[in-house]
Amino acid sequence: MKKISILGSTGSIGVNALEVIDHLGDAFSVTALSANKNGEQLVEQAKKYHPESISIIDEDSAQYVQSELKNSGIKIFTGRNGLLEMACRSDLDIMLNGLVGSSGMEPTLNAVKAGVDVALSNKESLVMAGDIIEREKKKSGVHIFPVDSEHSAIWQCLTGETMDDVERIILTGSGGPFRARPIDTFKDITPEDALNHPNWDMGNKITIDSATMMNKGLEVIEARWLFGVESDKIDIVIHPQSIIHSMVEFKDKSVKAQLGVPDMKIPIQVALTYPRHALATWESLDLIKIGSLTFEAPDLNRFPCINLAYQALKQGGTTSAVLNVANEQSVYRFLDGNIGFMEIPEIIEKACEVHEWNNHPSLDELVHLEKWVTDFVQTFKSKYV
Ligand code: MG
Repeated sequence: MKKISILGSTGSIGVNALEVIDHLGDAFSVTALSANKNGEQLVEQAKKYHPESISIIDEDSAQYVQSELKNSGIKIFTGRNGLLEMACRSDLDIMLNGLVGSSGMEPTLNAVKAGVDVALSNKESLVMAGDIIEREKKKSGVHIFPVDSEHSAIWQCLTGETMDDVERIILTGSGGPFRARPIDTFKDITPEDALNHPNWDMGNKITIDSATMMNKGLEVIEARWLFGVESDKIDIVIHPQSIIHSMVEFKDKSVKAQLGVPDMKIPIQVALTYPRHALATWESLDLIKIGSLTFEAPDLNRFPCINLAYQALKQGGTTSAVLNVANEQSVYRFLDGNIGFMEIPEIIEKACEVHEWNNHPSLDELVHLEKWVTDFVQTFKSKYV
């Protein structure tokens, strides 16, 4: 039985991961769980799985959790520092990081340093600190198993292959809800419009990232660090049906693709059961019902975030961390209704431009930079709202 910790257990990835673990029977023992502020759901999960430890960030929720679980014998960590401490545990087989945004970076790093394999859904970890995580990974010899569906697809396509034979990686993306919306109406996009994703049911932050297509940009950077492939060998193709999850082209022009229904439980299970494919009971892919798979080029005028991410990756150093934090903070301001949709890329571009660039930032410098970028975004004055 493998010991697993799940960070972000009450979020979309965490809940799906627990469903996968339920159906895998006694393959996994849920040893640690963490939530941001959903104390009620965390308590329910703790009562069901009896983990050794749990962590809750929000103070009010922490009080509730502590009183509900006071005689349970479960060790309760609270606040951000509690989460970081829990992520340092070295007696685990795997940590699934389903946290949202840059808050996932340090927990990933802590697990890697502690010698624990990571099933990584939190792509922002690699966007923020790919360089540092890569170095620490080499030192401790751990694995990072991708959970992001595109990267899981690439990983599966690369099984049994040699990186020297790879010509390019082809990341597919649905194009989000605004693929066909007239561009002159983009300034009127509301959070409700943007939260309505056609294919995937996900958390709010990643759903907005899909609407701006920054999600695909972040995935380009994630692919760079997971597979060691430079940006000029990573292409994006829009595939609105979300059936092909990504492809790899080899030097002989042979292309491998991985397909499946758009359900995050599949890449989660692949990451947890690697190198096996365990029996699943969910829906099979019905290609006849789907009928046709279509492809188109990404529209870079419509989605400037894609280019911003490629530029950040080419520039290297601190730029992709700035891109990531500026994006995240802008997305939250957009969701709060206090900036316009088209201001998201505008703010990101400015933050990347004016920040003090550093080629090899330390972890402390990244944490400091995160604060600087957060302030930068908070003080941006909207023209539309
Ligand atoms: Mg993805």
